[in-house]
Amino acid sequence: MSDYVIPQPPTATIPVVGGGAFPVRRVYCIGRNYAAHAVEMGHDPDREPPFFFQKNPNNLDASGNFPYPPHSSDVHHEAELLVALKSGGTNIALEDALDHVWGYGVSLDMTRRDLQGQAKKMGRPWEIGKAFERSAPVGPLKAVAETGHLDAGRVEMKVNGELRQEGDMNQMIWKVPEMIAYLSDYFELAAGDVILSGTPAGVGPVERGDVMEVYIEGLDTLTVKVV
Ligand code: MN
Repeated sequence: MSDYVIPQPPTATIPVVGGGAFPVRRVYCIGRNYAAHAVEMGHDPDREPPFFFQKNPNNLDASGNFPYPPHSSDVHHEAELLVALKSGGTNIALEDALDHVWGYGVSLDMTRRDLQGQAKKMGRPWEIGKAFERSAPVGPLKAVAETGHLDAGRVEMKVNGELRQEGDMNQMIWKVPEMIAYLSDYFELAAGDVILSGTPAGVGPVERGDVMEVYIEGLDTLTVKVV
């Protein structure tokens, strides 16, 4: 028996390859973490300090369908490696950062680019462009014990079989341990936190009926239909 005055909302989870589920506490996303993507978005790819935004845990969706969201006519795909933490803390040292990783997954940071663009122009927050319902399709996670740490390897994103995004995880401007250490200086990281690690170049729009496929070396292909 709890004292909750309304029914308890469900805990957001990501399925795990081979069974079980990973409960999600927070979702951090890094912006412009591949130089070629920074350039395509009109920015200097120099190593400026990283910046992050957040999605909501229940924006993660492993259903394999992505409902085209309202109030946008320019919804873009961003294929990203997801890093899932089993522990956290503050002021985590770079050399300890990977000890906090439980596993890795494939994700899409779906973006209402038109609404994000308006928000940028007006100096407003990005949530309306980034943190909408089911805005983060995900595939099942794999444990580090199975994959090792993923610091290099191909990232490919196809729409209807046509290659749209291509890169290598070794092209990340801020590497996974650096993102964990940096975030932990500003926030208290904890078990259940996940980080979407940025997208390579080639982002672009999708339409209802499109089939999106994301391949990240070491993980299983994520297939998502736009509905
Ligand atoms: Mn992104």
